[in-house]
Amino acid sequence: MAIQDYTIERVAQWLASARSAVVFTGAGMSTESGIPDFRSPGGVWSQNKPVYYDEFLRSADARFEYWRQKALAAADFERAEPNVGHQTIARWEREGRIAGVITQNIDGLHQRAGNRCVHELHGTVRWIVCVDCQAKYEPLPLLAWYREHQQVPACEECGSDRMKSATVSFGQSLPAETLEASLELARQCDLLLAIGSSLVVYPAAGLPEVARRAGAKLVIINRDPTDQDELADAVIAEPIGQVLTGIDASMRQLLR
Ligand SMILES: [Zn+2]
Repeated sequence: MAIQDYTIERVAQWLASARSAVVFTGAGMSTESGIPDFRSPGGVWSQNKPVYYDEFLRSADARFEYWRQKALAAADFERAEPNVGHQTIARWEREGRIAGVITQNIDGLHQRAGNRCVHELHGTVRWIVCVDCQAKYEPLPLLAWYREHQQVPACEECGSDRMKSATVSFGQSLPAETLEASLELARQCDLLLAIGSSLVVYPAAGLPEVARRAGAKLVIINRDPTDQDELADAVIAEPIGQVLTGIDASMRQLLR
């Protein structure tokens, strides 16, 4: 048996016997759905200078640039469908095998696959919010309006043009409640599967450490090596969808 198969079988055993398993996902989770990793070469951030939150708040030019970039990225989000990896994780939640999902992703694909307990550390593109009155809007009509008028849409409630995606911008702090709930989940789990994250962006990247200190096993599934590989109980560097379906199949064999 290949080493990788052996590792997958071992992880399947851990998942089958876990009291509280948690899944933590990063950009690599969604690349198989056609959403580029924004940090990778060719990604949005390699071609465009990101708009920082304080610039967004004070400058109409910055808000226009923000919408220009959002409209570009939105095309990828609109086309994307959950992949077999998302579907496997959704199935695990339905069957009570995992306590929840913590994600750095903003694409909402875990929820679309059927997960209910999802903590979105960096927010979501599924809503546009008004910074001034917190009114929430469906993104598609506003993006269409922007594309037609080439102008930042105004809030229907208060008239403000400080309308942004419900995502965490550069220079904006993470939502405190989501972060606290995620830390709590990490502290209470006995198995953490870190999937598709390079584990470098803090505080999200600190979650595996929190889980490990509380006695949880750490499994890292990522295409490239991460800084935390040495701390992990198992590391699998293969395509995510394939690995997760492999773990799932192996677990079902065990449970038969
Ligand atoms: Zn408003």
